[in-house]
Amino acid sequence: MNFDFSGKRALVTGAGAGIGRATALKLAELGAQVIALSRTKAHLDSLKQENPSIEIICVDLVEWSTTREAIKKVTPIHLLVNNAGICLQTPLLDATPEQFDLIFNVNLKAIMNVSQIVVADLLERNLKGNIVNVSSLASHRGVANFFLYAASKSAVDSFTKTMALELSPKGIRVNAVNPTVVMTEMGRHVWSDKEKSEAVLARIPQGKFVEKLDVVNGIVFLLSDNSDMINGHMLLIEGGLRCC
Ligand code: NDP
Repeated sequence: MNFDFSGKRALVTGAGAGIGRATALKLAELGAQVIALSRTKAHLDSLKQENPSIEIICVDLVEWSTTREAIKKVTPIHLLVNNAGICLQTPLLDATPEQFDLIFNVNLKAIMNVSQIVVADLLERNLKGNIVNVSSLASHRGVANFFLYAASKSAVDSFTKTMALELSPKGIRVNAVNPTVVMTEMGRHVWSDKEKSEAVLARIPQGKFVEKLDVVNGIVFLLSDNSDMINGHMLLIEGGLRCC
């Protein structure tokens, strides 16, 4: 399979760390002109140091108007990876309205915001595009004590299906990847309790956690023409994790 993104401009959100950073570096390696958007300047500076060809944008995606203005400046974007996300451990009875707003603002509303700017511009220029939303296995299975996070990711899946229906007739494919635990900063924070993480590991028949590269490979495949007839799909990246 050929993965050559030469001549394409790729925007990766949440590219300062974890899966997003690894995706930005891989897309640059495969020839794309990468624009890395993230919240913490120091993370972006170190990414730029690692690969000086990558353009960086420091924006907090919670800021609706600032985000829109920043994205407008870097269009056209042919490949969009809506990766930025946060995870809060909130059982139903402890979840607050503030936590609800924060998690849905970052994990969901930002996808709407960024995608609106990118897609409107592609349509105006009559260009084709490709979008991958980074969801989670939590959207499919639910996870106890992650009441808000799992719901936000279910909504990401819903966005993905509807965006694919609306946009693919216009030449823009939309898919999602849905990984189980990946030991990034977020993964380590959420699964630091060994007893909990080993219980998850015990349910993965392959006996290992998903690595960042496993997710990156899924994203790259979905962004490429190799997956041309895969559309509105949720690609589970979970090593066959058993429900129980
Ligand atoms: P990390 O916490 O390692 O990285 C998240 C990135 O998102 C960071 O670069 C962070 O910015 C950025 N980000 C967070 N909030 C904002 C914001 N308000 N504005 C701009 N950027 C923001 O997480 P992962 O790499 O693990 O997660 C990436 C995606 O994968 C998320 O959507 C997550 O839900 C999903 N996922 C992760 C799993 C896991 O186990 N790790 C499992 C399943 C899905 P900065 O570094 O600049 O502060």
